[in-house]
Amino acid sequence: MTKPKIGNFPTSLNNLIKLLKNSGFLNDDNVESAFRDVPRHEFIPESELDYAYSNEPLPIMNKQTISQPSVVSRMTEWLDVKKGQKILEIGTGSGWQSAILSYLVGDGTVYSVERHPELAKFAQENLKKFNTDNVHVVLGDGSQGYSEESPYDRIIITAACTEIPLSLFDQLSENGIIIGPVGGNTQSLVLLKKTSRGIVEIKRESHYVFVPLVREFGKK
Ligand code: SAH
Repeated sequence: MTKPKIGNFPTSLNNLIKLLKNSGFLNDDNVESAFRDVPRHEFIPESELDYAYSNEPLPIMNKQTISQPSVVSRMTEWLDVKKGQKILEIGTGSGWQSAILSYLVGDGTVYSVERHPELAKFAQENLKKFNTDNVHVVLGDGSQGYSEESPYDRIIITAACTEIPLSLFDQLSENGIIIGPVGGNTQSLVLLKKTSRGIVEIKRESHYVFVPLVREFGKK
């Protein structure tokens, strides 16, 4: 991965990292390095640049948002990504979360599914700045997963679902971990592990708000 210039933002990035650490959302040195290596301002529209390092979700396009930094650090830490793993992300959006995962897997691979063609293109352009060759953005309905490359060591859903789509469990390897926001108007972040004895809940934390996972084919 080659680094683009950080421009005028390093102070704000340092402040954001301090805030995430002090509030308990950033504890892992590798995740901190990923936040520094793939700066968020490279993944947002120009109109939002002033807010790149505020701890808020920001509009990107098609009424979608880049997730709040504290949510990205929490999900990434819970996912416990290891070098060499194969990861599936549902909801590419800006590509920022994909880039963070790409940094953490090293020579592993990230597949990320996005349903909006404009966003898939936006993410690909953002990712290009980093010369990453291990992120594959796939246009499609991520609620069906991406069986072509399954099984995955990790699956991350970055849009709200009423329940985790069953097809995603099928595409998870044994001892694999899946994380996603589950609920209605507000969601709980749920971390599950696939074991030889079935799916086991590891952690859950309430009061999250994500844009909805849109499920095609008339399924809710
Ligand atoms: N991870 C993103 C944030 C994503 S916001 C980032 O780092 O910026 C959620 C994204 O999920 C939106 O881009 C939305 O278009 C997408 N999405 C919603 N339903 C989807 C589906 N069924 N399949 C694929 N993408 C979906």
